[in-house]
Amino acid sequence: MNKIYLDYAATTPVDPAVVKTMQPYFSKIFANPASFHSYGQEAKSGLEKARKKVAEFIGAHDDEIVFTSGGTESNNLAIKGVAYKNGKRGNHIITSNIEHHAILNPCKFLEKQGYRVSYLPVDKNGLIDPDDVKKVITDKTILISIMHANNEIGTIQPVEEIGTMAREREIYFHTDAVQTLGHIPVNVEDIHVDLLSASAHKLYGPKGVGFLYIKKGTKISSFMHGGEQEYGLRASTHNIPGIVGLGKAVEVAKSHLREEGAKLTDLRNQLIEGVLKNIEHTMLNGHPKKRLPNNANIAIQYVEGESMLLDLDMEGIICSTGSACSSMSLEPSHVLLSLGLSYEVAHGSLRFSLGKYTERADIDTVIEVLPKIVKRLRTISSLYSSSKSTTIIN
Ligand SMILES: *Cc1c(COP(=O)(O)O)cnc(C)c1O
Repeated sequence: MNKIYLDYAATTPVDPAVVKTMQPYFSKIFANPASFHSYGQEAKSGLEKARKKVAEFIGAHDDEIVFTSGGTESNNLAIKGVAYKNGKRGNHIITSNIEHHAILNPCKFLEKQGYRVSYLPVDKNGLIDPDDVKKVITDKTILISIMHANNEIGTIQPVEEIGTMAREREIYFHTDAVQTLGHIPVNVEDIHVDLLSASAHKLYGPKGVGFLYIKKGTKISSFMHGGEQEYGLRASTHNIPGIVGLGKAVEVAKSHLREEGAKLTDLRNQLIEGVLKNIEHTMLNGHPKKRLPNNANIAIQYVEGESMLLDLDMEGIICSTGSACSSMSLEPSHVLLSLGLSYEVAHGSLRFSLGKYTERADIDTVIEVLPKIVKRLRTISSLYSSSKSTTIIN
């Protein structure tokens, strides 16, 4: 059976055009791009063409792109790299409660080394108030890192406002754009960012490759010490097939960005409306409008997310509860809890993330199958039978 994949925010399949572009770089154009011989120069040409495509796509210069092993490394390089290099100027970093662990954990790591981190709250829709950012800025603040859009609830942050504010005060601004690149327009000039992280496997490229945009003049240090690759900021022989694949993925995304966004917004709205209408005690998590075109995160009260996920899987529908990382543990997602949801409601939330192979019929299937699953699970749920007096969601 061909399953209905609705977990594109966790990872995407590699586009066939991307696979085709990568192919020659495994065994034919395999040389080390740092080598001066003709073979090496061929590989280097592939590398630099990819760099140009990525730079153009986000409105940057070629030499502002540093290729990495993915979103996690890009975020680590941004946070630790800026913190270490600018430690003399100040030791204060501002971020939010709903960042990916690839931001939160480097921040926690730095706290142990004497840095101070402010974790900003979000409102019930997952939005950060730029005024809250302003309030916590001190003369020791060296970096603000706020994600472009959240991977679990899809809320898109007011990064332009935050970026403008940071620039006025000469504080570096970083954004984790892993969920937005290739899905909504991303332009470093519009956002006023100094650093921006992205990952290929979230936009139909291969896993294990990404980049960090670093605005010219940004003071940052490397934490991968070795050769002089990537302007000395990221040692190690280049993953040429991966980088070439990332370049192609960006090119493909660019050509479909607008129509893809419109199509997915439509399908996503149908999914949200259908589920909210057909199942009582449900609610949309995240902002109703300022959200990624492909994200539908829905709280379904009186049922365990994991039970729904397994039942849906047996019916051929793949989705997730919270994020992939938090579904490995029993702790409910830190993002959903930050919205003010109770443990129970957070536990009963499902994330459907759509992608370019999602069709109307897939959405119809979910709208038809999910109510039956929820109904069955609720009949055996003690939470539901005692619910009459404790309804939290209408
Ligand atoms: C997936 C993701 C990451 C991590 O990217 P990897 O390439 O898997 O390391 C970081 N931030 C966000 C928002 C993500 O969705």
